Amino acid sequence: MWLSTGGLFRVVLWSLDGLVVRRAWSPQRPGMTILRIDCQAGISLHTGGVSTAISTQFAAVSIGVLADAAAELELLDRYADDLDEHALAASTRRYYDADFRQYELRCARLGRTALPCGPTDVRLYLTDLSLRLDQDGVPAYRASSIERHLASLSYANYARGYGRRLARDPAVARMLQAIKNARQEKTQRKRPLLLDDLRRLVTSCEHDRWPLGVTAARDTFAFLLAFATAMRREEITGLRVHQVTSVPLDGLWVRLGRTKTDQQGAGAVLPVPYGQHPVTCVPCARIRWLRLVAARADRPTMMRLVRQTPGDVTHWQHVCRGEIPALADESVPLLRSVTKAGAVSDAGLSTSGLNQALKRRLVAAGYDPRAYGMHSLRAGMVTQARRNGADTRAVRRQTRHSSDAMVDLYDREWNPLDGNAVQQLGL
Ligand SMILES: [Zn+2]
Repeated sequence: MWLSTGGLFRVVLWSLDGLVVRRAWSPQRPGMTILRIDCQAGISLHTGGVSTAISTQFAAVSIGVLADAAAELELLDRYADDLDEHALAASTRRYYDADFRQYELRCARLGRTALPCGPTDVRLYLTDLSLRLDQDGVPAYRASSIERHLASLSYANYARGYGRRLARDPAVARMLQAIKNARQEKTQRKRPLLLDDLRRLVTSCEHDRWPLGVTAARDTFAFLLAFATAMRREEITGLRVHQVTSVPLDGLWVRLGRTKTDQQGAGAVLPVPYGQHPVTCVPCARIRWLRLVAARADRPTMMRLVRQTPGDVTHWQHVCRGEIPALADESVPLLRSVTKAGAVSDAGLSTSGLNQALKRRLVAAGYDPRAYGMHSLRAGMVTQARRNGADTRAVRRQTRHSSDAMVDLYDREWNPLDGNAVQQLGL
């Protein structure tokens, strides 16, 4: 095959038999004629001269010199896709394979052919995923995971030689965007729970009744801690007893290990000061809960502890400077599930268990539970702090948001008067 190199040219390589060309490098300046080609077989070729003979070893590789910019861009785009495939990590491939198997099973059930994945079937599949709910009645798939499922199908299609344009099909792309938009609206509608709301939640618990007082103590501690630290729900349920320590001057320190937004695992220390009021004092709530956990094998003591707690929270006194109950093993989960009979189990509270607990308390306190979730406590911390005059930097120290823009989002939604000229109108 002859390759003309007179003038500016670019070379795009692709294989006819599905082999992926690793690298094509070509000079951008006219007159430069050295061409280096590496292909998957590891053959490399250095050529010079105005015209270059390409060895017949490259029969499987076709080489084109393209004068037409559109065609060239199109081919470069395909070449970039090929390179993308190399970027797939082994873990990603596993996800991709599992996602595709799920799609195959569904197709088999509905009597459809899985491959090639057609836009019509894929559109319906994405719709199906977006409508599925988990046991708490919240969407089982996040928009990002639906997008991953689409990428998996795209990859399966491509890897088996059915083209690589599935995710870019207009109908499919539109559906994915629609799902993302719908989800965004939903997250924005989750209302924050502010300090007054928390007080109402704590007040509505049956603190002095056996066995309800056990879950009351746990929920009070969990909600206050979630609010004060702005932790995500999986961070709260993942806490071990030793991660929350008393620091005499500060109150509590919560040491977070590796989390979703901190993949390097540098960790974070989230301080929680002593509360002004016993009802919303987090160190107090921790001690009340740990007393029950420490006495979990001793039912009469647990019952006594519950009945000693005033049912009317206005009679509560600070207990946070008292003795901290010692547990034999501090590597156990901090928040536990509690049976109907009031037994504290070994198992940690699940994220859905925590969410359900919040929903139950919301109903008891007269709120519409659909408008709130555990995220309402994190959102509430930001909103309350901003309304009380905290600046963005101060908020981010506790919330660990990666940018000011994220904090500003809460302001736009829930704190519209802050810094707004409408307050200077003298109405
Ligand atoms: Zn206290």
